[in-house]
Amino acid sequence: MKAIRVHEFGGPEVLRLEEVEAPKPGAHQVVVRVVAVGVNPVEAYMRAGMYPRKPELPYTPGADGAGLVEACGADVKRVRAGDRVYLAGSLTGTYAERALCQEMQVHPLPDAISFQQGAALGVPYATAYRALFDRAQARPSETVLIHGASGGVGTAAVQLARAAGMTVVGTGGTEEGRKLVAEQGAQHVLDHRSADYLEQLLTLTEGRGVDVIIEMLANVNLNRDLGVLAVHGRVVVVGSRGTVEIDPRLTMGRDADIRGMTLFNATEADLRRIHAALVAGLENNTLRPVVGRELPLAEAAAAHEAVMQSGAYGKIVLLTDKE
Ligand code: NAP
Repeated sequence: MKAIRVHEFGGPEVLRLEEVEAPKPGAHQVVVRVVAVGVNPVEAYMRAGMYPRKPELPYTPGADGAGLVEACGADVKRVRAGDRVYLAGSLTGTYAERALCQEMQVHPLPDAISFQQGAALGVPYATAYRALFDRAQARPSETVLIHGASGGVGTAAVQLARAAGMTVVGTGGTEEGRKLVAEQGAQHVLDHRSADYLEQLLTLTEGRGVDVIIEMLANVNLNRDLGVLAVHGRVVVVGSRGTVEIDPRLTMGRDADIRGMTLFNATEADLRRIHAALVAGLENNTLRPVVGRELPLAEAAAAHEAVMQSGAYGKIVLLTDKE
């Protein structure tokens, strides 16, 4: 089978399409024929060798994907050969025609959701869910700023927050991206490249500020976030690409919290709960993953370049059967 392999850390060009042996399932394992692969920024950081977690070389990148169950180990109970599934993690990497998974890493994909959409679920939706509900403890009727709402995690967070009865403000850096954010259900959409958008946010909330901020670029925004938080407000740092200076005094009068988060800290029980909620959202039509760009698996390098550029529009996916 074909798979993307990384033999050395470096630029996108180290992603090479190679022929490798197809995996076979152990007792509690599942082999999935991957149709679509989700591309996440973290895979670009790892490939560059700049992420705290360094995979052992050589490796196949990727945690997300969707496809059909091809083979199951003797003790697998949750899925059968032929089932449509999405992957949230794998043992062998998902940038490949087949992926070997633990039984708990595969989840049912409803018929109404395409494989491309299924590939947009694992990291982005689980991250958005964990950030909103587990870390921020966001509740219905609260106002939530999704700071960077046009990409994979942001579109997911807008849908989840809106479905849970929150007032959602989303930001995007392009007109196309902001239109997309509005389509996902955000009641208010702002331009994070404009000079006065946080003043607009304060006007929108009648000076009160927002209860929760889901922050995609904390190194740019964290200090200003603290200035637009309501009393008892929480900022969850989901993404950050550098350092930032903050004025701690801004947290004091608000009893404000800054909470970090990484999906890697979710336990097995957390992931079981999170994916049960996500599957329910897919079934009841409140969650509709947005795929902005599709590329052949062989063009993984171009996908890694694109995922690090601004102008996000939902998710970038790789297709295993596209030339
Ligand atoms: P993505 O699809 O590339 O989206 C990036 C988002 O950041 C876009 O909405 C982009 O908006 C926005 N952005 C750019 N400049 C911004 C600014 N000045 N202020 C606010 N937002 C800005 O990436 P993603 O998959 O959604 O991931 C988002 C971030 O979270 C990445 O840094 C990723 O590494 C991180 N992440 C963390 C975890 C975790 O476990 N903590 C999990 C998944 C992702 P425009 O392009 O429209 O400007």
